[in-house]
Amino acid sequence: MAQEFTILVVDDEKVIRDGCTLVLKSEGYRVATAANGQEALELLETTPVNVVLCDLKMPVMGALEVLEQVGRRFPDIPVIVITGLGTVDDAVECMKRGAYDFVTKPFRIDPLTLCVKRALEKQLLERETRRLQEEQARNLYTLAMEQSRMHIIVNCMADGLLVTNRNLEVVLCNPSFLRLAGFQSPPALPAPLGECFTDPALKEALEDLITGQEPDRCLYQEIRKGKTYLRAMSAPFLGPDQQVLGTVTVFHDVTSFKELDEMKTFFVNMASHELRAPLSAIKMQHSVILEGLAGGLTEKQREILTRAHDKIQGLLDLINELLDVARIEAGHRQLELAPLEIGTVLQEIVNLLQVKAQDQKVSLKLMVPNGLPPIVADRRGMEEVFTNLISNAINYSPDGGDVVISAQLRADRLEVKVKDHGIGIEPDEISKIFDKFYRVKDAKARQVIGTGLGLTLVKGIVDMHQGDIELESQVGRGSTFTVFLPLKPVIE
Ligand code: ADP
Repeated sequence: MAQEFTILVVDDEKVIRDGCTLVLKSEGYRVATAANGQEALELLETTPVNVVLCDLKMPVMGALEVLEQVGRRFPDIPVIVITGLGTVDDAVECMKRGAYDFVTKPFRIDPLTLCVKRALEKQLLERETRRLQEEQARNLYTLAMEQSRMHIIVNCMADGLLVTNRNLEVVLCNPSFLRLAGFQSPPALPAPLGECFTDPALKEALEDLITGQEPDRCLYQEIRKGKTYLRAMSAPFLGPDQQVLGTVTVFHDVTSFKELDEMKTFFVNMASHELRAPLSAIKMQHSVILEGLAGGLTEKQREILTRAHDKIQGLLDLINELLDVARIEAGHRQLELAPLEIGTVLQEIVNLLQVKAQDQKVSLKLMVPNGLPPIVADRRGMEEVFTNLISNAINYSPDGGDVVISAQLRADRLEVKVKDHGIGIEPDEISKIFDKFYRVKDAKARQVIGTGLGLTLVKGIVDMHQGDIELESQVGRGSTFTVFLPLKPVIE
């Protein structure tokens, strides 16, 4: 260890230089020597030295001048002054000029080596302190750069950003948010959420995130602000111990997608409308021919016409579903509300679908307890909802599968479950299957001919009744669709 350190001994007396060299080398130090201050300074220019031992008085440049030069040019090298003629005044003067210590001749070995050791320790400590100071300065610089970079990124984001604390006070928002929220000038922060963005659904979602039990979840919602449609993604803002410190919401302007979607819907509706009448006419003419009213048919002709007739019926079903969805979306579908025994409706649907179930070797089981109160609902709507759910359950069940339909009263709502033990649905598909035209691509599924509109229609009708629909599903184990219906919806 001591080998790594070089001690420079400066003395005009050779015997002192040799004596010190002997002592210091025996301690494992490397030793360099100089006969006067001038020589010592020249050597310091070329050789890395850790400590200087310097005689006070020498014919060419004594310790006082060496101290001055070393202090200026090599400030981290401690200088120990040695002298045979030392007075207190000399010692004081040397210390004033920055000497690390003062040793008088003739010196004993131990105090000299101890003094050198302490000087080296001081040097090491000073170097370490300097290194830490430099590192701290570098870290502070990096932090400042990072902060300014984050600031620029947040301010340049095209999406709006809103950050709240646990008290739902807005503590940060960016210019895009201010633009989307219609601010002319930035509000003073922190500000209550209601002063920056008034949307009850967003407030509720953020409250859920703050009090919620699942700290890693995100909530998505669509918010309408005048003519602007925003897609908001909110997530909890977590501290180092995963505690919720607040919330972060990113707002994406989806107005142009909405407009495009509306134009697409308008086009599809118009096309469907225009196609329905001629298709119905073709179907009717086919029926006339099939019934033999236009003359006799060969077996082959009948077979071809029947296939064409079925295809036309499929197209008409699609068109009717499309127009139904469009009517619900536009708020044009009227509900004919009347008291309804759900058990009776379910029984009728089960009877109707029994043939289809038997064809597909699926058993249907209906479990409705006695004394279930009637609900106020639209009969045709309820028939559409449960026909779709039960026929999907049959379609997506394997041969020999069973479908259980049950109803029961839960608090002030009626709960109807359609449970199958079929192919199930992947977790990431669950949120999409109520979307228009969405169909899961599954090689295991039967070749089911469908439109991907059935569940959209189901959800639309349930929503109109102020009900809810939930889906639990496990791939390979089956799916359960649960419909919750209020006993009497309050329709404005
Ligand atoms: P489709 O006309 O295709 O049946 P739906 O809107 O009724 O349209 O259903 C959408 C998609 O959801 C279906 O294509 C199917 O992949 C999936 N699905 C619906 N019900 C079930 C079910 N009971 N089991 C498995 N998958 C289902």
